Amino acid sequence: MKIVDIETFLVPPRWLFCQVRTDEGVIGWGEPVVEGRAEAVRAAVHTMAEYLIGQDPLRIEDHWQVLANGGFYRGGPVLSSALAGLDQALWDIAGKTYGVPVHALLGGPVRDRVRMYAWVGGDDPAELADGITERIEAGFTAVKMNAVGRLPGAATMADVAAVVDRVALARELLGPGRDVAVDFHGRVSAAEARRILPLLAPLQPMFAEEPVLPDRPQLLRDVVTASSVPVAVGERLYSRWDFRPVIEAGVAVVQPDLSHAGGISETRRIAALAEVWDAKLAPHCPLGPIALAASLQVAFATPNFLIQEHSIGIHYNQGDDLLDYVADPEVFRFVDGYAARPTAPGLGVEIDEAAVRRADQVGHAWRNPIWRHDDGGLAEW
Ligand SMILES: [Mg+2]
Repeated sequence: MKIVDIETFLVPPRWLFCQVRTDEGVIGWGEPVVEGRAEAVRAAVHTMAEYLIGQDPLRIEDHWQVLANGGFYRGGPVLSSALAGLDQALWDIAGKTYGVPVHALLGGPVRDRVRMYAWVGGDDPAELADGITERIEAGFTAVKMNAVGRLPGAATMADVAAVVDRVALARELLGPGRDVAVDFHGRVSAAEARRILPLLAPLQPMFAEEPVLPDRPQLLRDVVTASSVPVAVGERLYSRWDFRPVIEAGVAVVQPDLSHAGGISETRRIAALAEVWDAKLAPHCPLGPIALAASLQVAFATPNFLIQEHSIGIHYNQGDDLLDYVADPEVFRFVDGYAARPTAPGLGVEIDEAAVRRADQVGHAWRNPIWRHDDGGLAEW
């Protein structure tokens, strides 16, 4: 079997899909994207495709090595995300070729269902309360909320109290038997994180995400030891080499994104590295159906998996949703906050190719907002 063609599709709300076709008619789908930089990733995919055309798609690891390390320059969001989407598509082809779901090729299932968490906003207390109530009614046992919006260089006592109050509200609504995760989005300094996390500790969040920016792992150990709140990072890290220092700093949860961190192949290795340090895997996934399908395949085969993110109903997807691109949305119907084990070959999701081609005609030019502080200086979004 040989790869004969690789196409990309720029689809709303902010995604990029790729399709790898073979001379035997087996088709693999992947989702190579960096949100806000989809066009750059698309160009990288087509550069990598030059190498893959004519190759045997089943030599996944060899292709991974060539695409990750054979181009001299390596790593970073654009190249690693292009590789990630192609890696997903190759695993999809492998599963379809052997007639089994990808998790069967990864050693078989280690669990029968996968716990999901749902996103709730978090900036406005009334919206937060409505969001949490809705998610509880939908059966979810865990939610994730924003800790803070724009935060100035030094948070006031009132800023900090507002964070604690909103997490307390979430805890009150969820009760002790459900979980809340709190995402800082790298919006606070390490010093502020050391002030805030001990105050959140009595509320026992499941984890505090990105309490410092991803490019300063040397600050993480002090943040980890500042409180008992488990620290999570990883949506802006791209390889096992990126993850090593944060895992050694004692983070409790690693969050590689299946579409950023080198795909299924590399996420498996990041999970194994995390296992050595007793850290759990909670893949980042505010993306589309292929990224989510790839995430679930890894979740079903990974012993130290914790919980899975998904973007159904997330605020980014206004008017467009990942269910728009799947032929059978049933695979993403969560029962009691859990996803069932997919049984179809490959990634386990059938992509509606006609819908993808129609959406590609529309395209998108999604960019994240540029936030500024009250004094006009750039704020972390
Ligand atoms: Mg996040």
